[in-house]
Amino acid sequence: MCSREPGHPSHRAPTRQNSLTRDHGVTYYADLTPYRYTLADQAMVNVGWLEPGHEYTRGHVPVRLVDALLKLGTRPRNKLRGFHFCGFCNHYRGSGEIHVVGPTGTRYAAPLLVIHYIFAHGYRPPAEFVDAVLTPMRAIA
Ligand SMILES: [Zn+2]
Repeated sequence: MCSREPGHPSHRAPTRQNSLTRDHGVTYYADLTPYRYTLADQAMVNVGWLEPGHEYTRGHVPVRLVDALLKLGTRPRNKLRGFHFCGFCNHYRGSGEIHVVGPTGTRYAAPLLVIHYIFAHGYRPPAEFVDAVLTPMRAIA
């Protein structure tokens, strides 16, 4: 996956900058873009990494989507150092991510805050992510 030439000084840590950015709370990633994180060992795509100043999709979501996310959120993945603060209201924080696999095998990585974004800020995740969450027993173990 790394396109740098072998031996290049930065060859061993191609995603280091991205990881630091994520740890420091500036965590905007457009929905369905490739997920990059040093601990990720499988290809995933981003969902719900919202930040003020970036447009996001608003709308109603099925109530059972929130129920399913809350259930998944009880066992968060990639619990990072510190917390993610909601950039919109600054009153909520979360730590960790929700990972799910969709029916077509696509893997999604969302911050635990995605539940708050849906509840408090009207965020509507991409339909394919909704489908993935609502497909039972597809959380990455
Ligand atoms: Zn908020």
